Amino acid sequence: MAARVEKSLLHVPSLQELCEVLQEGLKKNFAEVQVSVVDCPDLAQEPYTFAASGLCGKPRIADVGGVPYLLPLPQTDKIYNLNTIAEGVELPSAFILGASAASFKAVGVNAELMPNIFTKGNGKDEVVEVRSCRRTGQNNFVSCMRETLEKHFGDKPVGVGGTFLIQKGKAKIHIMPEFSSCPLNSDEELNNWLKFFDMSAPLICQSVFVSHDLGFDLRVEHTHCFSHHGEGGHFHYDTTPDTVEYLGYFLPADYIYRIDRPKKI
Ligand code: ZN
Repeated sequence: MAARVEKSLLHVPSLQELCEVLQEGLKKNFAEVQVSVVDCPDLAQEPYTFAASGLCGKPRIADVGGVPYLLPLPQTDKIYNLNTIAEGVELPSAFILGASAASFKAVGVNAELMPNIFTKGNGKDEVVEVRSCRRTGQNNFVSCMRETLEKHFGDKPVGVGGTFLIQKGKAKIHIMPEFSSCPLNSDEELNNWLKFFDMSAPLICQSVFVSHDLGFDLRVEHTHCFSHHGEGGHFHYDTTPDTVEYLGYFLPADYIYRIDRPKKI
């Protein structure tokens, strides 16, 4: 049976406006910030090694399933085909970038996934480049950008996706181990099940964030990262604020699709 798909238009600010808003917001949390509109770098090259060279075309956000399908015990029938997801967001040929769980049936164990799938060519275009160095505030890089958008755009939902590098420093990352055999009924039990690590730059992050929930039970920010030195997982925050350096490339999405939203219990 096809999963239920809910869809909403997002507010799409111009790239220039997005630059100005993020510049102001990030300045409150980082010592050095430079946000500008640039030609998208070739993301097929090192260190990104993505399946597509650009982020452009018709940027859309898909929020599929959710934590209620993992907790308190996993619903192991909840496996999604990325080709079906691409059809669900009305882009049957798409470059899919983001953060999800891997199919335990495909890889043999429960695992973090950094989906990076390309099914058809798209043209390179302009993107927003974000450079932030030396974190001075408490907010993590992604939350700072998301909350900045929420504050500036208010009721108008703005969704952003793309990639960023942690060029220097370390980050707190979790990975999911094997499915828990006992129910995970609290945040404490969940955090005892997850495995947390301090991982080292350079980390290549795949990130999506929405300024606020539109009543879809959205995961309003989600970032996974990988590296070429064997580390990767779900990004929480950098643990080296004095030395951290971020370089990101982002675009605002035109639509958000909520696919197979878990029913509230
Ligand atoms: Zn995750």
